[in-house]
Amino acid sequence: MIKKVLIANRGEIACRIMRTAHRLGIETVAVYSDADADATHVQMAKESFRLGPGNPSESYLCGKKIIEIAHLTKADAVHPGYGFLSENADFAEAVGAAGVIFVGPPVNAIRAMGAKDKAKAIMEKAGIPVLPGYYGDDQSDFHLIKTAEEIGYPIILKAALGGGGKGMRLVESRLDIESASAAVRREGEALFGNGRLLLEKYLRKPRHVEVQVFGDSHGEVVHLFERDCSLQRRHQKIIEEAPAPHLTDELRNNLSTAAINAAKAVDYQNAGTIEFLLDNDNNFYFMEMNTRLQVEHSVTELITGLDIVEWQFRIAEGEKLPLTQDEIELSGHAIEARVYAEDPSAGFMPSSGILTHLDLPIETENIRVECGVKIGEYISPHYDPMIAKIIVWDKNRDAACRHMSSALMNARVVGPAVNVEFISYLVNLKYFREGEIDTGLIERLDLNEFRRQIEPAIDSLIATAVYALRARAANSLIMANRRGDPNSPWTNSECWRINGTSYQHVKLFWLNGSIDVKAQQEKNCYVFFIDSDGEIFEHHVTVFPDQTEKIVLEINGRIFHFHVFKHNDDIVVFSKNKVNKIQLNDKFMRNILMESAKPIFAAPMPGRIVEIKVKANELVSAGQTMIILESMKMEHAIKAPEDGEIVGVNCKIGDQVAEGLDLLSFKRTNVTE
Ligand code: ADP
Repeated sequence: MIKKVLIANRGEIACRIMRTAHRLGIETVAVYSDADADATHVQMAKESFRLGPGNPSESYLCGKKIIEIAHLTKADAVHPGYGFLSENADFAEAVGAAGVIFVGPPVNAIRAMGAKDKAKAIMEKAGIPVLPGYYGDDQSDFHLIKTAEEIGYPIILKAALGGGGKGMRLVESRLDIESASAAVRREGEALFGNGRLLLEKYLRKPRHVEVQVFGDSHGEVVHLFERDCSLQRRHQKIIEEAPAPHLTDELRNNLSTAAINAAKAVDYQNAGTIEFLLDNDNNFYFMEMNTRLQVEHSVTELITGLDIVEWQFRIAEGEKLPLTQDEIELSGHAIEARVYAEDPSAGFMPSSGILTHLDLPIETENIRVECGVKIGEYISPHYDPMIAKIIVWDKNRDAACRHMSSALMNARVVGPAVNVEFISYLVNLKYFREGEIDTGLIERLDLNEFRRQIEPAIDSLIATAVYALRARAANSLIMANRRGDPNSPWTNSECWRINGTSYQHVKLFWLNGSIDVKAQQEKNCYVFFIDSDGEIFEHHVTVFPDQTEKIVLEINGRIFHFHVFKHNDDIVVFSKNKVNKIQLNDKFMRNILMESAKPIFAAPMPGRIVEIKVKANELVSAGQTMIILESMKMEHAIKAPEDGEIVGVNCKIGDQVAEGLDLLSFKRTNVTE
């Protein structure tokens, strides 16, 4: 019986494993790097231990230290999650040698499937179809060219130990093969410590279909159906679903039989995934096996009603598989979308920064949310920038798609760039709705079309203008109160003028455009005059009572809901599945907004607070030292960027703080009227 498990991971997967462990009455031990000292997984665990600095090689990849902590805490098992040490056979072996249960497959199975080339050789021997190519020892370009010529271009070169979509090059013709092989060797060396490569026929528009398998120590292997993970960018998955759309029963059976045979060929135990590529004629080919829990295991859980992590624990304890193949039933359809801190308009480059706002859809019987981060946390460049997984289920695919589309409207992330609008765009595409997906779909999309769709609509611009005008009105009132003259008509924000009604003006800017807005106000009603292609349109707007970040407007007789946040110089407006960042041209207005924005002072690096020189409500001048942080035996002063007031101090002397932790709130005082 496992009584206590150390989870050698972080983020959503550490939290997800802990949830099952706690439900089963298993105590949990978390480990963390300095960048994660305050992270959700640390707060969820019964006990938490520091591994080292943020860099994974000094923390989450330090197997020896993790085993020491397992001993120290008397943990009888280690769950590696995914990524980090999860497929490291030496680590699994060392855990076993230390008398601790590794919640995963046997060392030999990890080793056998650890290298793509060796795994293919084993699979071919076991009669599992593999793509034509070369995965042997002759690594010369001469031999690669000869094979490519035999099987025909295009081909793909892959680092044998690669993973995460890295270390791969598509080669279209003989001309590119040498430069591609050199690049793959270099990447293999640099990222995976081995430059060995393999060559494979490259399939155009294939689907990525994988089968979840489970084996026990009594020789039994079952499958939990398949997942389609074809929606990928940079060869990495962002939307997955189960079951795979449009498979005939025959194909589904053939895939799962092949997967079970593959697992049996390496005496597999515990959870594993056999990945296949499916060509346009429904031929499938083994690609690789992942000998661990997958990110996308949740869709399988929703269609089978099973808890895969619970099965992992039970099998690691030596139990038999909880169900026979016949008892495992498929019900309905599940889809998962990965919310990443990345910028789809900039080649899906990862983005980092502090999460200043995070709303995720509320969980229902159709919506599940897995998240390992919280507001104020820093999305660090050290780790995979996944913020959350949104998983939906319903009786059929259409209904599941509808849940996903509406769930994404309730995902609001402010801070780093995120892909929410992009995945929302994807799940509403005709191809996706019809299940016409392949691994090249995202690459073929016209991103200009996506950009056009996310241009701010007139209602979002009106919401921004209302937000700005109300901030200006609130500020006028504060100023009037300070002057002791709150009832003066000169401070009336509705633009009272001696000669009758006048207008308020706001100019709004966004990435690809700008607009002049002219408004007349009476109490909570506005008339906006907005120029569209040379013609002035009137918009009649009523503002519903204030709900802080939520703005409800009736615009020309129709109700609209918005969520509006300030972030740096931007006003961030969420409306249904759109988010727009809009700026104001007016320095005065910007200052008003910034004044109330309470900039966050984040720890620039992990360290210890050695001195706090300010307290709440104290006035400070530009350049004044507020906090001293010690990191790697050096002191770093955190200074006021300009004159201001300390709103609150969120740390105390002696605190060990993570990089990006919010240390104090500060309000500028140099706002000019
Ligand atoms: P990793 O281990 O880095 O995830 P994989 O070998 O699993 O790499 O491949 C990742 C993705 O790359 C696949 O899902 C698929 O989209 C693409 N890919 C890999 N091999 C081929 C191939 N032979 N033909 C076409 N696409 C491929």
